[in-house]
Amino acid sequence: MGPEPAPVVTTLPCVLRSRAELKIALAGAPRPIGLVPTMGALHAGHASLIRRARAENATVLVTIFVNPRQFNEAADFEKYPRDEATDVRACGAAGADLIFIPPGDEIYPAGFQTSVRLGPLTEPLEGAARPGHFEGVTTVVAILLGLAGAERAYFGQKDAQQLLVIGRMALDLGIGTQIVACPIVRESDGLALSSRNTLLTAEQRAAAPVLRRALLAARARYDSGERDGERLRSAMRAVLSTEPLAAPEYVSCSDPATLRELTSVEGAALLSLAVRFGGIRLIDNEPLP
Ligand code: AMP
Repeated sequence: MGPEPAPVVTTLPCVLRSRAELKIALAGAPRPIGLVPTMGALHAGHASLIRRARAENATVLVTIFVNPRQFNEAADFEKYPRDEATDVRACGAAGADLIFIPPGDEIYPAGFQTSVRLGPLTEPLEGAARPGHFEGVTTVVAILLGLAGAERAYFGQKDAQQLLVIGRMALDLGIGTQIVACPIVRESDGLALSSRNTLLTAEQRAAAPVLRRALLAARARYDSGERDGERLRSAMRAVLSTEPLAAPEYVSCSDPATLRELTSVEGAALLSLAVRFGGIRLIDNEPLP
């Protein structure tokens, strides 16, 4: 008989629940610090951000806060998936040291009256479809960036407009944290991972890869020389129309810096779309070239 195998030890990250606890933990934390803001219900997309932060920083701080201010529909906020115990384990497995899981009044204390609102970048696409969404996002992210004082903060390309908006905000407000963009993680059938995917019925889940197929159809047209913005948008609409469960909200071929719709693609472009499956709204995007 050989020796007993060593038990597998996974160290759980330290969970912090107040601004005061976070401040104390960060004061003693080795630098640089990498911040990964999330709303929980963590999946492999979030894990990729945490692992990237782990590789590039001495301390990794994940935040989990389902931010009511960025939900423009009360029902979406209420049904948003929440599973703290599973999330804490997932953060540990991906290499997080600290997790900030504040109650609402730690983010928005009594008397809170500050809002961060950006200009034209927040108006099209998600901004047009979800009034107030970006003001909620930029306000909470500004708070989290301020509390963390991290050298780097990690965001997914999945939310391409959010990434652009947060980068702009950090620049405008002189926030010293570097905003790091991370690639989209997908299921094997092409569906971008999202916490909302778990809310889809089996039929909706089977239909959902149509988002990716629509983007790839437009990309194929682009690759074979198509540069007309409207024809690229039509290529996406045509694919979406083959799926009866998919109700498109927008399809876009925009300038990746301003997000204005392009009539013709001269340089880079961002293909993006939002599609509803019943009450569940999914988004995806593909940068060109
Ligand atoms: P959320 O919890 O949905 O607010 O997302 C937290 C962060 O994870 C955001 O920066 C998202 O862009 C990022 N994220 C969400 N889904 C993915 C994905 N499939 N691949 C890469 N990053 C993602």
